[in-house]
Amino acid sequence: MDDRQWRTHRLEQADQTLREWDARVLAAGPEGIVLDRSAFYPGGGGQPPDHGVLLWGGVQTRIVDARKGDDLYLMPAEADPLPAVGTAVRGAVEDERRTALMRTHSGLHVLCGVVFRDFGAPVTGGNMEPLTARMDFNLPDIPPGFRDAVEAACNAEVQADRRIDVRVLPRDEAFAIPDIIRTATNLVPPEVKDVRIIDIVGLDQQADGGTHVASTRQVGRIEVVKVENKGKGFRRLRIRVADA
Ligand SMILES: [Zn+2]
Repeated sequence: MDDRQWRTHRLEQADQTLREWDARVLAAGPEGIVLDRSAFYPGGGGQPPDHGVLLWGGVQTRIVDARKGDDLYLMPAEADPLPAVGTAVRGAVEDERRTALMRTHSGLHVLCGVVFRDFGAPVTGGNMEPLTARMDFNLPDIPPGFRDAVEAACNAEVQADRRIDVRVLPRDEAFAIPDIIRTATNLVPPEVKDVRIIDIVGLDQQADGGTHVASTRQVGRIEVVKVENKGKGFRRLRIRVADA
């Protein structure tokens, strides 16, 4: 999969606050709907796809999923009407779900930065739903008070209200940043020339296509719900994101 070949211009990559926009239908059929411009995050990097709606000709097509193939296909709710090719539509991302996912995704990057800085443990995997997530680390020994220490350090970083910047860098420049290399979960295919970097300034930098809040305070409170031992240095941390 190489999203640079998609016909859809991905608006959410540059503006993570965008929730409504105008677009035109390039394809529509059983395989899904392709738009010329879309702010629907299609899923990836552990962040699930957005939900939302297309409004056109007095009807609505609910978008409940996305499929990444030769194009970015938006998947309509079963039995919802399909707009014809060429139709002008108004797209809208469901704000509650997306905002929750942005807070959760940024919260995971805070966790990732804290656990690496304070315990030297790299991330090996992760996944999220709105306001709940897990992240896996390679951490052979859990020191006493680990859960409380991680939770306190995460919330200190939230309170510090660190800026979360998005940058697109040429591949060579991106991989010259030491932080980018250590995040083994985000292996970037060799044909990708430009790398999008999410920078929690002073804490964590990762190659990442996901959507994030603009500063750490917007995450809210991070609760480390559980630390699971999955064997052989494999630790799974479960978090919940709550209102501050
Ligand atoms: Zn991420």
